[in-house]
Amino acid sequence: REYAAACVEAIAAAGASLHDAEERLGRMDAIAGDGDHGRGMVRGVDAAAAAASNALHLGAGAGDVLAAAGDAWADKAGGTSGVLWGAGLRAFGETVGNSAAPEAAVLAAAVTAFADRIIQLGKAEIGDKTMVDALLPFASTFGRAVAGGADTGPAWQEAARKAAAAAEATADLLPLKGRARPLAEKSLGTPDPGATSLAMVFAVMGPHFT
Ligand code: ADP
Ligand code: MG
Ligand code: MG
Repeated sequence: REYAAACVEAIAAAGASLHDAEERLGRMDAIAGDGDHGRGMVRGVDAAAAAASNALHLGAGAGDVLAAAGDAWADKAGGTSGVLWGAGLRAFGETVGNSAAPEAAVLAAAVTAFADRIIQLGKAEIGDKTMVDALLPFASTFGRAVAGGADTGPAWQEAARKAAAAAEATADLLPLKGRARPLAEKSLGTPDPGATSLAMVFAVMGPHFT
């Protein structure tokens, strides 16, 4: 029950930062994509927040709260990023389970499950200029720090810094997946919107998940 409430707060925090960033993410996506990334993320996270708090009030544990949030996100966001975020959150929830306080190693496994699911569905590789470019550095940094005995809070912060730097660095890449591919050259100099939003959301969720 306790961790379930923290998960609801994590999604609410993601929602607040995505509402703030909606226009900026939309402008980034409009450079080579279709401009709907901000709107899609807001629609997805709002649906996820409603589903998560509903599940919590019905007595669900953390894993079921996150799975419900993921399903709602994928259903309501529209677009590629929504499907991937929704499936990733569900995988995170299934791995974290319904315990009141998951162990550090379980949280690390949940982060890995989130990343694995997104890669399995989207088939993007590092360097393709997608959210995966921020996600893999996050997951490997968090996993390594936790395996080395670090507390989850500082490990998550370190991983979030790596993700933010990696998202910034996608500015130099050409998109090889998704809707930005036909106009790939136009996106040079601008970071990938999905990598940017992922780094931002992971940063604000950290204090709740750890
Ligand atoms: P859409 O492209 O359907 O309009 P969004 O604009 O919401 O969806 O999301 C675009 C983001 O989705 C991109 O910036 C990229 O990070 C991510 N993305 C696109 N295709 C893939 C993929 N195959 N694997 C992982 N991420 C992807
Ligand atoms: Mg788009
Ligand atoms: Mg679209």
